[in-house]
Amino acid sequence: MTRLVFVTQNHHKLTEIRDLFASTQRYFPHLNRYQLLSLKDIGYLEDIPETMDTLEGNASLKAWTVYRIAGIPCFADDTGLEVKALGNRPGVISARYAGEEKNFDKNMDKVLRELEGSLNRRARFRTVISLIIDRKEAQFEGVAQGTIITEKRGTEGFGYDPIFLPDGFNQTFAEMNLEQKNQVSHRYRAFRKLMDYLNASSMAMV
Ligand code: IMP
Repeated sequence: MTRLVFVTQNHHKLTEIRDLFASTQRYFPHLNRYQLLSLKDIGYLEDIPETMDTLEGNASLKAWTVYRIAGIPCFADDTGLEVKALGNRPGVISARYAGEEKNFDKNMDKVLRELEGSLNRRARFRTVISLIIDRKEAQFEGVAQGTIITEKRGTEGFGYDPIFLPDGFNQTFAEMNLEQKNQVSHRYRAFRKLMDYLNASSMAMV
């Protein structure tokens, strides 16, 4: 078994990735050699500050921080909501857009306020995952395109999910259940690339 640590202190992300990991393992038997662990599983309880100014930089920083200490293959995700009319803000500062308290409602209220009267409500979620194995790093990007609606809808998910309507759907991410969000989300798209990468490496090793 190869241990693979998901570097996050966000239990919503962990729930999503656990579900995605289990469902992908069903299709790619080679991935059964991987055991997904959380930071809690390896006894790492500290918060890792996100001090870089890009999603790529923060994903990399988080993954390397844990890899250097634990020496176990690991991956980290950094995600941002990029709103076109706001010059791609909040982007890398999505978590603390309305302040250091990282309050989901206040963050959404700020975006809604800033978009008041705007005809362009296009937005996208962008996830960057950094994977580190054998001291080598690989990055994977996943994007979900959509629009910001005018009021919050739904109670599932987390973060900006209640105001994000993905293209092709009438439900916000917060009106979808875990399985539905995991079929179309930015995190799914990035994670799927990671799984393809691991699958190809595992097949090469057989
Ligand atoms: P992080 O820096 O990747 O942990 O995420 C930054 C912020 O983006 C989070 O605090 C959430 O507000 C938001 N976010 C990340 N992923 C999602 C998602 O899947 N849906 C909605 N909001 C998200």
